[in-house]
Amino acid sequence: MKVVDKIRAATLGDGGNVVFSFEFFPPKTDDGVDNLFDRMDRMVAHNPSFCDITWGAGGSTADVTLDIANRMQNIVCVETMMHLTCTNMPVDKIDHALSTIKSNGLQNVLALRGDPPHGQGKFVQIEGGFACALDLVKHIRANHGDYFGITVAGYPEAHPDVIGSNGVATLEAYHNDLAYLKRKVDAGADLIITQLFYDTGVFLKFVNDCRQIGITCPIVPGIMPINNYKGFLRMTGFCKTKVPAEITAALEPIKDNEEAVKSYGVHLATEMCKKILAHGIKTLHLYTLNMEKSALAILMNLGLIEETKISRSLPWRRPTNVFRV
Ligand code: FAD
Repeated sequence: MKVVDKIRAATLGDGGNVVFSFEFFPPKTDDGVDNLFDRMDRMVAHNPSFCDITWGAGGSTADVTLDIANRMQNIVCVETMMHLTCTNMPVDKIDHALSTIKSNGLQNVLALRGDPPHGQGKFVQIEGGFACALDLVKHIRANHGDYFGITVAGYPEAHPDVIGSNGVATLEAYHNDLAYLKRKVDAGADLIITQLFYDTGVFLKFVNDCRQIGITCPIVPGIMPINNYKGFLRMTGFCKTKVPAEITAALEPIKDNEEAVKSYGVHLATEMCKKILAHGIKTLHLYTLNMEKSALAILMNLGLIEETKISRSLPWRRPTNVFRV
């Protein structure tokens, strides 16, 4: 089933439910893959609307991503969305990936450009290859008609390529980025998942700006719980994400205490989700980084999943007023 149809059916109207989803990435070893499936089994028991699996830029994880996606859909039995990047990769490989997932019964693709390969500052369009996600969306619709639900990436702060050294995009660059997002939707995308953000106001403004230019499809906020201080700095640096001063201030005194950082990360994400839900948005997408505890603790804090034995033993599931945010 298309994820967008599931989301629309579940969230429709005043009585509609809040739905959530989990993102995973392909582990590097067979043991890692086994561990991931154990974790996924436990997480899927909480009934996410879908789960997605990332694709290494340039097809670097193609085989393992395809294998995991197949097992997620057909063995774990969760509605699965496979990411697919389109640059630095021959079109044959894209077609092979699409026909493989189609024959395995998957109906959902997250169509992406992809970042440049490791060590390459800018991506180079290979001969006969695609230049951007818009090309991939058009290609999928041209070759597979209406079969796939197509999701695309949205950037509440604009894509990092156009964020300046002052940490923000110019108004013009931001609006160009939005206009380009609309072209992806007009070309056939039916769902948007956003890049991570830590300023909820930025996300809510982005949704409003999308609506103003006629983007009507669901926009799903991508929430990445902070699990680790260095990882947080690396990720927000790479994505050029705005980090509100109060978050920096809250992390500074606890940055060397991993449990305290995780605990704060759960608290912060819970509060962000509460604000988002209070604005009538009924979908939450959790970037799990293949970890289960923070994601589940957030959903429990929000009352979206039931407390389990595991949850009661979570050291960082504490009342949410412990921290100042
Ligand atoms: P595009 O939509 O093609 O464009 C990126 C930006 O370039 C646009 O926002 C726009 O500013 C500009 N642009 C591009 N083409 C045009 C045009 N024709 N006209 C005007 N402006 C244009 N990477 C991976 O390698 N694997 C993954 O699995 C993966 N999953 C992701 C999931 C999500 C939800 C997100 C937000 C990102 C993910 N990424 C992944 C990262 C993504 O590949 C990078 O952010 C990449 O740099 C851009 O991909 P995109 O699909 O947004 O690109």
